[in-house]
Amino acid sequence: MSGSTTCPGCGLELPASGWLWDPRRNASPECWRLFGEVQGFELRHLELVRDYHQLAVDAYQAQHAPRDHREVRPIGVAYALVGLHLALDRGVPGVEVRAAHQRMGKPDASWPRLEVPERTGTVTVFDVAAAGTMAGSVSGHAEAVRGWAAAVWRAWAPRHAAVASLTDRLLG
Ligand SMILES: [Zn+2]
Repeated sequence: MSGSTTCPGCGLELPASGWLWDPRRNASPECWRLFGEVQGFELRHLELVRDYHQLAVDAYQAQHAPRDHREVRPIGVAYALVGLHLALDRGVPGVEVRAAHQRMGKPDASWPRLEVPERTGTVTVFDVAAAGTMAGSVSGHAEAVRGWAAAVWRAWAPRHAAVASLTDRLLG
């Protein structure tokens, strides 16, 4: 294989691997694989699992929200955005964010349409991998995930009010 792929979700360019694209995912297979490595690093460090895993999952999902969802309501995106809102605006710990996702229940027609912004942040999972697993640094990983999640959440600024009100309505 030669050349590179560009991730449709985050814009990350990586050497082409020849792996198959998963049409259900708005991500290149190389970007998705790199996220898998980042999660693997988290799983080897208890404090990262506890404090950063949920934030990383929500950041990845919000950054890779499918752009063309005229027919399909982007279900996972609402969970990811509520997660980022809880963690970054309200200081809710990762374990509680996970519990909140479960309390949100199933989406219905009353949930707002959350139109995807033109760009979903300039920080990517590559920055997290470079600072964390590639450098063998737990603190580098933690700091990079915080910066990554904050950049993704900032990119969604036009939807912050809708996400906050959905959070209030579902979680009280
Ligand atoms: Zn990507």
